[in-house]
Amino acid sequence: MNKKPTISIIVPCYNEEKVVSLFLQNIEPILKNTKESYEIIFINDGSQDNTFKVLQELKDSYRHIRIINLSRNFGKESAMTAGLEFSLGDVIIPIDADLQDPPELIVKFLEKWREGFDVVLAKRADRKSDSFFKRKSAELFYKTHNQISNISIPNNVGDYRLMTRRVVDAIKLLPENQRFMKGIFAWVGYPTTTIEYKREVRIAGETSFNGWKLWNFAIDGITSFSTVPLRIWLYIGVSISFLSFLFGITIIIKTLIYGIDLPGYASMLTIILFLGGIQLMGIGILGEYLGRIYNEAKGRPIYIIEGEY
Ligand code: UDP
Ligand code: MG
Repeated sequence: MNKKPTISIIVPCYNEEKVVSLFLQNIEPILKNTKESYEIIFINDGSQDNTFKVLQELKDSYRHIRIINLSRNFGKESAMTAGLEFSLGDVIIPIDADLQDPPELIVKFLEKWREGFDVVLAKRADRKSDSFFKRKSAELFYKTHNQISNISIPNNVGDYRLMTRRVVDAIKLLPENQRFMKGIFAWVGYPTTTIEYKREVRIAGETSFNGWKLWNFAIDGITSFSTVPLRIWLYIGVSISFLSFLFGITIIIKTLIYGIDLPGYASMLTIILFLGGIQLMGIGILGEYLGRIYNEAKGRPIYIIEGEY
C-alpha cells in the first residue's frame, strides 16, 4: 500500500483473540461497498492472549490491514493515540474490536462527511446493553463533568466517530500524557454533527472496563479538563472561616454575659474532626493534580511501539 487511503479505521485491541476475525468479516464488505480506498489499523495493546498472532495470520488474507504492536498494555486511550498518529487516511474512524460499534454506521458517517462535516459523532439512542450501574454512573459522570469543566462532552457519545484529517492533526498537537480522549476530541472542536445508533452487546470476550477502572477513568476525565475541584477549596475555606468567626464571637459574648462555662467537649471534638477531614480531602485533591503535573513533567512518550507489521 503506497497510496494514501481515504478511510483509516483504528481498532485498539486488548485480549480480543476471540473477536478480531469476526470483526474483520463484518467490516470488510461494508468498507468494500463504499468504493473508497481504506486501511484498517489494529493496535495490539499488549494483549496477554493470542490477539497478535491471530492478527498476523489474518494479514495474509486481508491486504488492507496494518498492525501496530505496542510493547506492553498502555490502555485504550494510548492505543487509540498510536492509531491516530499512524493513520494516513483523509477520514479517520476509531472503532472497538468487539462489534459493539456497528460497522454499518460507517456508510452514514461518510454521507455526513460528504455533506461537509469534520466530525460525525455516533450517539447511543439508549444504554440498554449496559448494566444498571454502568448506566447510572455514566449519567452522573457526564453531568458532573460538564457542569465543572470548560468543555462539554456530549452525552452518550463514545469514541466511535468519524474525524477528518485536519481534526486528527489538531488532536496530535495536544501533547498531554494522560489522555482522556473524550475530552480531547471535544476540545479541538470543528463542525460537528451527530447520528443515533443502538449499541450492541459484546459478541465475545470480556470488557476490560469495570468498577474501579471506570472510577479512575472518571477522575482522570474531570481532573484533565477542570480546575474546579481545586478552586472549590477556596470557597469551602472561606465559608468555614467565616462561620468559625461568627461562632467565636457568640462564644465571647456568651462568656461575657453568663461567665465561663466548661462543657463543650462534644462540640469541640466534632469541629476538630470535621475540619481535619476537610483538610485531608483538600490535600488529597491537591495531590491528585500534583500527581498529574508530575506525570506530565516527566514528558514520557504516550506509548512505545514494539513493531509495525
Ligand atoms: N482496549 C484496549 N486497551 C485496554 C482496554 C481495552 O485497547 O487496555 C480496547 C478493547 O480491545 C476494545 C475497546 O478498547 O476494542 C473497548 O474495550 P471494552 O470493550 O473492554 O470496553 P467497553 O465496551 O466495555 O466500554
Ligand atoms: Mg466493548
